[in-house]
Amino acid sequence: MSEWRSGRVARKTMWNKTHFSLAIDIDGPDFTAGQFVRIGVDVADERVGRPYSLVNPPHERQLEIFFNIVPDGPLSSRLAMLEAGDEIWLNGAAKGLLTLEQVPAETRVLWMLATGTGVGPFLSILQTDEPWRRFDQVVLGYGVRYADNQGYGPLIRRLRVEHPGKFHFVPFVTGERVEGAFDCRIPSAIADGRLERHVDITLDPADSHVMLCGHSGMISDVVDVLRARGMRRHSRREPGHISTEKYH
Ligand SMILES: Cc1cc2nc3c(=O)[nH]c(=O)nc-3n(C[C@H](O)[C@H](O)[C@H](O)COP(=O)(O)OP(=O)(O)OC[C@H]3O[C@@H](n4cnc5c(N)ncnc54)[C@H](O)[C@@H]3O)c2cc1C
Repeated sequence: MSEWRSGRVARKTMWNKTHFSLAIDIDGPDFTAGQFVRIGVDVADERVGRPYSLVNPPHERQLEIFFNIVPDGPLSSRLAMLEAGDEIWLNGAAKGLLTLEQVPAETRVLWMLATGTGVGPFLSILQTDEPWRRFDQVVLGYGVRYADNQGYGPLIRRLRVEHPGKFHFVPFVTGERVEGAFDCRIPSAIADGRLERHVDITLDPADSHVMLCGHSGMISDVVDVLRARGMRRHSRREPGHISTEKYH
């Protein structure tokens, strides 16, 4: 295993009681927007490390990560106790294939669908120039149980202002009724065509690529719905229409 590097928490943002972000000052690795790193803290006598996606774009050297506290989770509950100035560790290189390098050149419409903190890698990508140069339309569907679990409202509002007509933000809130948000899961809104009608764009295999990140149930259900519509997983060997990253 590669070396651990030490860093310091520069800033903590609490979005609610269970969702928070840490900005980290560290000599971090080079990365491509959409990738993750391994983050650790010392718990008792042991360093516990897990993968976490970067929210900042690569041109910003301060790393940022969006976390949620998993009940009884050893690392997430420990990370939530950190404050500005505390030590935090990073191991090895950035990894992961949820990047625009994996999106075929003919793609005109990019669909980014996330649950929970899985929105993080998409926010990193959306803060680079590449999606705005390459695609005609970019859709971000962001699903959470309760509205206040959504982080990064100010950044998402800024992206909507900066890219009118090109950027479509679609919130999903399943645990309560919220005006302006779908109250169903992302897979159902694709299956019955509501998501496409809402943004007035067709999920067409000829020009669409779908990136999925977060909860494995959402990812497998969306993949099933898309398969029935002639889309398939993308790999380097066999180009397709779907890229995924499962958090849990
Ligand atoms: C490639 C990758 C990138 C990731 N990026 C992020 C990220 O940017 N932000 C983030 O918060 N997490 C991310 N995760 C999840 C993260 O690595 C940890 O699993 C999570 O923080 C829980 O760690 P823990 O030690 O507290 O609990 P663990 O011992 O790891 O997990 C305890 C239980 O909680 C489940 N679980 C794991 N993550 C979640 C979650 N987010 N919500 C609900 N249940 C969960 C696990 O499946 C397990 O059953 C990522 C995972 C992967 C594989």
